[in-house]
Amino acid sequence: MQITKNGKATGTGPSEWFTGAVYVDQVAVAGQGSRINATSVHFTPGARTAWHKHPNGQTIYVTEGVGRVGHRGGEVQVIRPGDRVFFEPAEDHWHGASPTRFMTHLSLVEVDDQGNNATWASHVSDQEYRASASLEGEDA
Ligand code: MN
Repeated sequence: MQITKNGKATGTGPSEWFTGAVYVDQVAVAGQGSRINATSVHFTPGARTAWHKHPNGQTIYVTEGVGRVGHRGGEVQVIRPGDRVFFEPAEDHWHGASPTRFMTHLSLVEVDDQGNNATWASHVSDQEYRASASLEGEDA
């Protein structure tokens, strides 16, 4: 048994992987026979990940605020507390806050044999972030 007391400093999302200010709290760290990596990720308004993919997929569970998700070739969609999104292994995607609201989600991923949990690509442009017909009522 290993207890990690609340008090470990919140980390910041590196600018090569995120646009805007993003804060990360570790929930579960892979290793010692576990492949599960869990984080609570806090996006400030307008902040989002870069385009990326996960070798074994990813589940995110929204706990607070209003957010957006996108995947290659698809429409941007609004996500809210209680919503769960699964991204398939190697699916190119991004996730983040709405332009006017914070968004926090729990992230669950399994690392691969090399311990990697994501492959990162280009930033999500403002055009990609805004492009959608399905954002109507986002701030309602
Ligand atoms: Mn992801």
